[in-house]
Amino acid sequence: MSTSPLASAPSVPFSLPPSSVREAGGLGPGLVGPGARGPAASETTGPRRETWAPFDWVGFVPFVLCHLAVLGALWSGVTWTAVAVGIGLYWARMFGVTAGYHRLFAHKSYETSRPFAFAMAFLAQSTIQKGALWWASHHRAHHLYSDTPRDAHSPLQQGFLESHLGWIFHTGDSPDWKRVQDWARFPELVWLDRYYLVPPVVLGFTVWALFGWSGLFVGFFASTVCTWHGTFVINSLAHVWGSRRYPTRDDSRNNLWLALITMGEGWHNNHHHHMGSARQGFFPGEIDLSYGILCGLEKLGLVWDLKQPPARVLEEGRALDAARRSARSA
Ligand SMILES: [Zn+2]
Ligand SMILES: [Zn+2]
Repeated sequence: MSTSPLASAPSVPFSLPPSSVREAGGLGPGLVGPGARGPAASETTGPRRETWAPFDWVGFVPFVLCHLAVLGALWSGVTWTAVAVGIGLYWARMFGVTAGYHRLFAHKSYETSRPFAFAMAFLAQSTIQKGALWWASHHRAHHLYSDTPRDAHSPLQQGFLESHLGWIFHTGDSPDWKRVQDWARFPELVWLDRYYLVPPVVLGFTVWALFGWSGLFVGFFASTVCTWHGTFVINSLAHVWGSRRYPTRDDSRNNLWLALITMGEGWHNNHHHHMGSARQGFFPGEIDLSYGILCGLEKLGLVWDLKQPPARVLEEGRALDAARRSARSA
């Protein structure tokens, strides 16, 4: 059983504290240092997958049922409105995954207020990928142990299916609190993490009330399933499919197709090389829709201090690209 983070929670400010780990890659407190660029040798040893737990068959049943719920459209029919709702919810919630779960809660790659952080957690959790703190704690572990035996979702270590979705049912519902001490200071986020099904239930009922059964089956469930697998391919494919610009210690790749369906997460090799950047497409042509939307939100004053890749990282990337081009033409 995890210790409650609220027992010793200090008084909390309205604005979130600035990240203290931005230059170290944005992993979070206690994780600055060797792990910021990949695991140190000592971190790759020890028990295989520290987050291992017996497979959660009880949790797996609703996951399967959500997939089957899409077939309800055969009974309800499919309206154009439901299709539009589904497309809108896919992109809106994928933004919650990439800009919320990942770039805010896991990496603190930009600053925002507590109310907006709560809104991002709510949006992200409406995808039914557990709590924002749970997501962040496991993702921070992924960066520490990428593609080593201790990585919870490495296609190189566990194969496609386990890295795609099996690992989720091996990890339990509680975050690793020591990895998310920075966020555990905020009781509203801890509450939302504990009751992580509140956002999808609220959204599902709202969609059903507004758009009927077709809206529920197509607009909500089909877009949820697509958001799941759109997210999961970053774990299962972005370490095996694509090109490697930076010689990171893991096997992360850059992949345009994955970047398009995940609003920029496909630039995974860039991200593993400098994970503290709010921008994952480092160079022209590397489409990163999440970053573009974050820039719009910055203009509205909702987010600020979007972290950028340092000049040395960009120069290194340009030099590596140039070296590869000349090697190809030689
Ligand atoms: Zn990765
Ligand atoms: Zn990351």
